[in-house]
Amino acid sequence: MIYLKTEEEIELIRESSLLVGKTLAEVAKMVEPGVTPLELDHLAEEFIKDHGGVPGFKGYGGFPNTLCTSVNEQVVHGIPSNQPLQNGDIISVDCGVLLNEFYGDVAYTFEVGEVAENVKKLLETTKACLKAGIEAAKAGNRIGDIGFAVQSLAEKEGYGVVRELVGHGLGKNLHESPEVPNYGRRGNGLKLKEGLVLAIEPMINLGKRNVKQADDGWTIITADRLPSAHFEHDVVVRKDGAEVLSTHEFIEEELNKKKNK
Ligand code: MG
Ligand code: MG
Repeated sequence: MIYLKTEEEIELIRESSLLVGKTLAEVAKMVEPGVTPLELDHLAEEFIKDHGGVPGFKGYGGFPNTLCTSVNEQVVHGIPSNQPLQNGDIISVDCGVLLNEFYGDVAYTFEVGEVAENVKKLLETTKACLKAGIEAAKAGNRIGDIGFAVQSLAEKEGYGVVRELVGHGLGKNLHESPEVPNYGRRGNGLKLKEGLVLAIEPMINLGKRNVKQADDGWTIITADRLPSAHFEHDVVVRKDGAEVLSTHEFIEEELNKKKNK
């Protein structure tokens, strides 16, 4: 079942997405060597509740926490641990919020201290893949056009595109139809209609595309143990192109403040 959203519903999803963006900005302030993912998780949970939201992931399918925190070779769905972050790590922080009956779902991959140049480039390219995917999400295009845009950019750099996990529709449910793969063929798949709200979320590996599940039953890791990056936005399909409902702006403001200190 595919739900096209009304303008009122789109505004509610925007509000939820913005709360996630602000939550991740609080996380951004704290990310540094020595901090534990569990500390980030507690902060995020408090912040969401203080702003009238409900953590969207906690309890979802039995997931134990507010944030998915995925460090280095962890791709997504990492359970926040009490292992301190180290200089040179990257950490993908994925967060969902339920507010006014609608979900927002946003992810950002942070650098911890000084990160190797090749890893920085992976992050930049993954962000560019997200942008390319968003640009392909216009009415009349197809789901395969989004995946094609993401995949071709990533593979041009020699990176692996994760196949097993995908983006999704978003609304009253955290995961709605359709699935939004980060790979695909042009002109293939479901036709995009105005009012379709999608979470687009490339997961790009420095090495090969293959992944496996860790023993905790949640965390997805790269098979070759090389780092993986993940960025996510919520968008609505419009006639002339996708409108991004979420924002990374608050996050990047905080990161810039830290850089200029
Ligand atoms: Mg997410
Ligand atoms: Mg998602």
